[in-house]
Amino acid sequence: MNTYAQVFQGTAFTSQSPKEIKVLKDHLFCIDENGVIAKILAPIDIAYNDVLKEYENTDAFHRINEGTYILPGFIDLHVHAPQWIQAGTALDIPLNDWLNTYTFPTEAKFADVDFATKVYADVVDTLLANGTTTALYFATIHKEASIVLAKTCAEKGQRGLVGKVVMDDPEQTPSFYKDADTKTALADTEEFIVAVKELGKSTKQGVYPVVTPRFIPSCTDEALRGLGELAKKYDTHIQSHCSESDWAHGYVQERFGKNDAQALNDFGLLQDKSVMAHSNFLTDEDAQLFADTGSAIAHCPVSNAYFANSVIPIARFMAMGVEIGLGSDISGGFSPSLYDNTRQAVISSRMLEDGVDSSLPATTRGVPNSRITLNEAFYLVTAGGGESLSLPIGRLEVGFAWDAQMIDTRTANARLPIYEVDKKEIDIFEKIIYLARPENIREVWVQGEKVHTR
Ligand SMILES: [Zn+2]
Repeated sequence: MNTYAQVFQGTAFTSQSPKEIKVLKDHLFCIDENGVIAKILAPIDIAYNDVLKEYENTDAFHRINEGTYILPGFIDLHVHAPQWIQAGTALDIPLNDWLNTYTFPTEAKFADVDFATKVYADVVDTLLANGTTTALYFATIHKEASIVLAKTCAEKGQRGLVGKVVMDDPEQTPSFYKDADTKTALADTEEFIVAVKELGKSTKQGVYPVVTPRFIPSCTDEALRGLGELAKKYDTHIQSHCSESDWAHGYVQERFGKNDAQALNDFGLLQDKSVMAHSNFLTDEDAQLFADTGSAIAHCPVSNAYFANSVIPIARFMAMGVEIGLGSDISGGFSPSLYDNTRQAVISSRMLEDGVDSSLPATTRGVPNSRITLNEAFYLVTAGGGESLSLPIGRLEVGFAWDAQMIDTRTANARLPIYEVDKKEIDIFEKIIYLARPENIREVWVQGEKVHTR
């Protein structure tokens, strides 16, 4: 019997550190039966030719064609699966109005399980086709439909972390879209956690329940406290929104006399497996609390341009040691592609550094040292996402899951401009990150299983 379930031969890019990309040229990636990278061999390694000889004429062997490159799968740390039905529309009004006018009526439709089943299949297929191998999802307040989303991830082979959303404060939520009461919200959450944990036992790539207070404004103190306790009892991930906009940030200050981060921490909602969306208005003290508790930021740069009233100082928070990954934030962000968000993360950081008001002198226009490089943005969308979720994903390294995307730079009608001058692989890497489209993503693998082909 063969030692490995799969062996891939090809050139790959993975983060060595936030600033450095490691180029693995013509390497062999040996994957075990659990879908984990068991060995990586360079052509100069003594075992290389032996493994090649043993596998190259078997079904387990995959030679990646010239012109195609292997990247780690991308990790989406913030996506509202039900909002896919309104993606690309309704981006014209501020956050609080947007929620009440468009988003809550949209999410209310997911009381219908058949409707949810149909939409969630589309969402998971679309994200996989865009190279997203792991997604941290907000579902809706509905327990059944939220379980449907977890089942859809399990069946389609995506690593899904799914939250049933809690919104129990009658004063801050519309009557047509809220939990019946606090007790029901907590009981539904607990039943949801138990059901998804059970489902996870038979799911190779893993599906995980996530404790999900929508954000402080939609929850009572009792619910927030109860959710912190449930997360502790079942050792689950936690997600919410934190200090997203002037309005959201100000609301929490008014209600508690402190910032979101401190309030979330006091309710037991900041811990190693916590991921907080946006977090634009964190003070350095708040950011330090994130770093100390191991809580992560889901940076959603496309969405932020519409709803966050600011550009988050991501370079500063990276330097402080906060765990950070990227999120699409469908549908505050219109794009299901983390390529788009990786590009926007770089663009937004450059605009923060230079500043945006051309009537100001250059010396006072921007915030110095705010830019991040393309390599750093790539780190966030891969390794940073894995660290944020405390899972062995996001790197092509021994011990990590084989979550990979095969990028064909020669796809008809989507050919990347790679010519003889691009001798350096790192130039090809940059072209892929800036220019690749879904058409270039030929195959997507999660935990050693092929989940998408085109
Ligand atoms: Zn969101």
